[in-house]
Amino acid sequence: YFMKVIIIGGVAGGATAAARLRRLDEKASITIYEKSGFISYANCGLPYYIGGEIEDEGELTLQTPQSFKARFNVEVNVNCRVTAIDTAAKTVTVEQLKTGKVFTDSYDKLIISTGAHPALFGIGGADTRGVFTLRTVEDTLAIKRYIDDEHPREAIVAGGGYIGIELAENLVRNFIKVTILQRPNQLLAPLDYDMACLVASKLKKEGVEVVFGASVKAFSRKGDKIICTLADGSTRPCDMAIAALGVLPDSSLAVQAGLKTGVKGAICVNERMQTSAPDVYAVGDAVEVTHFVTGAKALISLAGPANKQGRIAADNICGIPSEYCGSQGSSVIKVFDMTVATTGINERAAQAAGINCQSVVLSPSSHAGYYPGARTMTMKVVFENTTARILGAQIVGYDGVDKRIDVIATAMRAGLTADKLTELDLAYAPPYSSAKDPVNMAGYMIENIMNGLVKQFTWHDIPGLTGDEGAFLLDARTRGEYAAGHVAGFINIPLDELRGRLAEVPAGKRIYVMCHSGLRSYLACRILAQNGFDCFNFSGGYAFLRSVCLGGGMPENMFSCGMER
Ligand code: FAD
Repeated sequence: YFMKVIIIGGVAGGATAAARLRRLDEKASITIYEKSGFISYANCGLPYYIGGEIEDEGELTLQTPQSFKARFNVEVNVNCRVTAIDTAAKTVTVEQLKTGKVFTDSYDKLIISTGAHPALFGIGGADTRGVFTLRTVEDTLAIKRYIDDEHPREAIVAGGGYIGIELAENLVRNFIKVTILQRPNQLLAPLDYDMACLVASKLKKEGVEVVFGASVKAFSRKGDKIICTLADGSTRPCDMAIAALGVLPDSSLAVQAGLKTGVKGAICVNERMQTSAPDVYAVGDAVEVTHFVTGAKALISLAGPANKQGRIAADNICGIPSEYCGSQGSSVIKVFDMTVATTGINERAAQAAGINCQSVVLSPSSHAGYYPGARTMTMKVVFENTTARILGAQIVGYDGVDKRIDVIATAMRAGLTADKLTELDLAYAPPYSSAKDPVNMAGYMIENIMNGLVKQFTWHDIPGLTGDEGAFLLDARTRGEYAAGHVAGFINIPLDELRGRLAEVPAGKRIYVMCHSGLRSYLACRILAQNGFDCFNFSGGYAFLRSVCLGGGMPENMFSCGMER
């Protein structure tokens, strides 16, 4: 007798599980049921087919049912939707979508990898012609066809998350004017507000309009236009629209079968990807995971976790006790020529979890400044105050962003504290990095804070400082930089004149020092501290503050920043 495994869903988690199962058990009967017409397709590549960067539709489907059968001897049934699971009888009910035929199939082991579906949050008229969501190859082809046939000139993308932003870029590549409507006051929820401002600025620079506080309620058709109605009753016309408001786990089958579910209805599993029903495993976007940083249950809908979990489920089915040790949410996105990457949790989430934390913000070069082509990246590393545990990092920049986030993600997995980032022995030559890599630099900054060598203040503190009698606000940049723009109330003493002008710094006051990036103000703080002053260094520098003011979703920030010329 050979083991019989059924897998529901044949893409990231499902196809990985099937391939691993076959590598471990040559004799098992393995069957995939997939409701779409394709298996093992590249979800993550779909936006780039719409933009034309991936030209050949065939590139999107990594395997066909035939190639998968030939390579892995797995029965792949596309256009077959599983409509019910009977965990007592150990059967699934399958509907063959093309013929309407319904049949049952039995299993010894079942893997559910049904993924997630685009969330619509009750938006009316989401089925209006010209309004799309993007999840499958079919969705992609429909969007592409609509663009080719109807030549839309203006598009609305509802939602400024990963898929919304990737689509915005790829619609622009089709010469479509794009507006992103975003209900929260920032893009990309895994980023903190300040880092997300850099992304908003970039999109605006590339001609994408970004509207914050805009909650889409309904779409409708009026002649050849689509009308998008917002919660405040205002309307915006466009020629096509995409709803990219996030995803929800596709767990309806599991719910129906009485499996235990958790966060937003996601399927509960243990470390071995076993559900509450015997011999039923679940993986991917359909399951809740333990967050690697907080230990809380979370939804992290990404391809890496789905692939790992598929493999782990297969291992356990074949008697190898692999375990899934939590998701960290490491992710990266291309925003035109910019790269944005995160790992772990941001400062907002850390505070919400009650963790006593702070962050450093630095703007190192991608490689040695004297070697051509170096670009600045903005890096934020969040750490726990008492322990220096790294909670997460966010990087926005160009070259080398993905490399640095992966180094920090690895350090976090290995349990390295932030001060240990100073010890990482990283590869260096001028075209690639600096002798002190940006990751080392973040470590030095955190070490200085942990040692009490530096105290810092952030842009959140600025409104409270103007008018504070006990504070002296010092701008350590050059006269020219100061004249070009500064924050109200800051007095200019250029760093290189500071030692000679110490008499101008009032004794007994707290000294708040700002410069362009945070480096010269750090040097100024060290001079001042060693002369007996109580100093605070401005995290991120004037450049960071400026981008927070200019890129943000809250116009009043312009005032709270107090920037003046
Ligand atoms: P999926 O890969 O979605 O597979 C689930 C499959 O199950 C689907 O094909 C579905 O048709 C099928 N199914 C559902 N219900 C049934 C049923 N009842 N019967 C039969 N079949 C069923 N992640 C990243 O990490 N990086 C990226 O850059 C990235 N980009 C993305 C871009 C886009 C446009 C999209 C949509 C997703 C992106 N993701 C990205 C997310 C990533 O694709 C998912 O996290 C991953 O595919 C999840 O794997 P899964 O196996 O759980 O679900």
